Amino acid sequence: MSRRGPAAAFRARTRRAAWALPLLLSRAACAAAPAGQGKHASPTPPGTVALGEGAWLLPGHYAPPRQPDGNSLLFAGPGGWLVVDTGRHPGHAQAILAAVHDSGRPIRHVLNTHWHLDHVGGNPALRAAHPGLRVLASPAIHGARTGFLAGYADQLRGLLAAPPAGVDTDALHAELARIEAGEALLPDEAVNAGGGRELAGRRVQLGLAPDAVTAADLWLFDPASGVLAAGDLVTLPAPFFDTACPRGWSAALQALEAQPFTTLVPGHGAPMDRAGFVTWRGAFESLRACAASPAPASDCAEGWLRQAAPLLPDEAARMQARALLDYYLAQVLRGPSALRHCADAGERAAAARPAR
Ligand SMILES: [Zn+2]
Repeated sequence: MSRRGPAAAFRARTRRAAWALPLLLSRAACAAAPAGQGKHASPTPPGTVALGEGAWLLPGHYAPPRQPDGNSLLFAGPGGWLVVDTGRHPGHAQAILAAVHDSGRPIRHVLNTHWHLDHVGGNPALRAAHPGLRVLASPAIHGARTGFLAGYADQLRGLLAAPPAGVDTDALHAELARIEAGEALLPDEAVNAGGGRELAGRRVQLGLAPDAVTAADLWLFDPASGVLAAGDLVTLPAPFFDTACPRGWSAALQALEAQPFTTLVPGHGAPMDRAGFVTWRGAFESLRACAASPAPASDCAEGWLRQAAPLLPDEAARMQARALLDYYLAQVLRGPSALRHCADAGERAAAARPAR
């Protein structure tokens, strides 16, 4: 684990600064999406935003210095609920449980789009409340537990042994406890390939994106509502590159654009329509190309702000995007091990070493 590892990213994301204002999840943008119409229209669960036929968004929040919760999606099926992603903090998991409570129906399936703690952290609480549920996820979490998450846990223990001034030690303890939840985070079923599935009685399409935001990300398309759950393959106010392989990520975005969705729900931020996604993807590709060029990093960050402007709701979002991109350009995209999360990183490093 490098000196600038996940704990450095934690500090970068949680540093108290002028831009540390709540990133507003635009309720206005959500409200513009079609409400749950159709012959099986159900009442909107509390705390959620209707997206389409039997599909609701439970918004995650990202308000530095607090670590983020990813967005969750709730899909109602004849067999109960399908939940996509479970957030990080206990409050987010409790909001999911409260949202489904009045329906009297169980959570049948949880799909984790990827293993980041802001998407799997609520798994233990949901399992405890709905013991019959099955968690589906890619097998990448197994590698993460012995790799990235183990290194992150060591860094958290180091910080807790000698906490720097101003660090929220309660948040560090809670983060460490989430990693130590271990088995309760893991899937009951490892998804190794995309394809059609029936989850909670709903026919959905799963996609597997290797070597993208993590070693293997999942996305879900629900034809009945037209909703595409993209996980962190799409995030606002900027892409999160902590564990990413940018080249594989580009391929995943191409696959997403080929889906016949009407509403794309990103891992963080407000839902977007197809035009919004095309804008986001264009900004992502420009950022990648700029990062690979000799252009100053500030040009790359400003290019993102310019191109993604229609998706950034306010000045707080723009300032947060700028802070994230300054960090990612310096430490990840242009760092000495920029491609370390790509599957062939080991082979490439070996090939670059002089022969003996
Ligand atoms: Zn996330």
